[in-house]
Amino acid sequence: MDTSQGSTRRVSGFKPTGHLQLGNLLAAIRPMVAGQYAVRTLAFIADQHALTVAHDPTALAALTREVAAILLAAGLDPVRSVLFVQSHVPAHTGAHYLLESTATYGEARRMIQFRDKADGQETVRLSLLTYPVLMAADILLYAGAGHDVEVPVGADQGQHLELVRTVARRFNTRYGETFALPRGLQPGSGARIMDLSDPRRKMEKTNPVTAGVVFVLDPPDVVRRKVMRAVTDADNTVAYDAAARPGVSNLLDILGCVRGCPATELAREYSTYARLKADVADAVIAVLEPLQRDFAGIHADPAELDRVLAAGGEQAARLAGPTLAAARQRIGLLPGRVGEL
Ligand code: AMP
Repeated sequence: MDTSQGSTRRVSGFKPTGHLQLGNLLAAIRPMVAGQYAVRTLAFIADQHALTVAHDPTALAALTREVAAILLAAGLDPVRSVLFVQSHVPAHTGAHYLLESTATYGEARRMIQFRDKADGQETVRLSLLTYPVLMAADILLYAGAGHDVEVPVGADQGQHLELVRTVARRFNTRYGETFALPRGLQPGSGARIMDLSDPRRKMEKTNPVTAGVVFVLDPPDVVRRKVMRAVTDADNTVAYDAAARPGVSNLLDILGCVRGCPATELAREYSTYARLKADVADAVIAVLEPLQRDFAGIHADPAELDRVLAAGGEQAARLAGPTLAAARQRIGLLPGRVGEL
């Protein structure tokens, strides 16, 4: 039960905009799984966030199941943790509207990710502008009734989390204390996994160039090929220097994440790139193989997967409901909607 795990909840969302990659697994999924017995963990597939840019409906539905199956295969325990699909819990869009009426246009427009993603596009979906406010709803719904929330965030989400805090503070000031201010949980060192063929950019599941992206479901020979072809530099010595030597440092970061030891220490164990790359490939394959075996079993039984997701959705709705009801009441909406609460 919630109380036996203290009042802190940890909330993580995964956008089904592509196949999950090694950065998702090492920096977000594995730490979440490792922490789930110490902190009440809520993990959701952010399917509505995937609607903010051009998308293929069939692929979105397939990726939603795929991401859920990967989270389970990676060890997320659906009995201990809450695993759900964002759109299955209508409280998220319910709270979104209340928070859209609390945030301002200027605040949304200032988001760097909005400007980056909208830049050069002929048409920009309105939801791309407002999605950080949906993200606020995703988090704040679980930050009511005496519960703190921590949110693991990469550096690029820092501005969004600040907006979430600003909106929560404003709502509390205007309408009465409703939401606890969420805390960002910074990933440990080595947690930013870079693209193997372009190590100055983050490894991303939506990158159309896939040579440097290790997908969680890549077969072992593909993983090995991508790692062995990773861009390093002309200086064939192994040393950790993320700014000057991003390629080799990224390989050390990956190995450090898998082995749970500092990348700088690992650097001393290697004198050539070839041996380092071979060990990185072996280590990554050793992590992926059991996960892929479990994934195959889980993914082959969509009825059971849907049952797990439905149960998680009901549990999330029970946790979110009282917070949404309190927020609705404080902002002046009458209780008594049809079909909910
Ligand atoms: P997303 O892929 O945007 O749905 O992100 C899901 C989670 O994975 C977030 O916590 C991201 O910060 C994290 N993440 C995604 N890519 C990387 C990466 N290359 N290195 C570290 N963390 C990542």
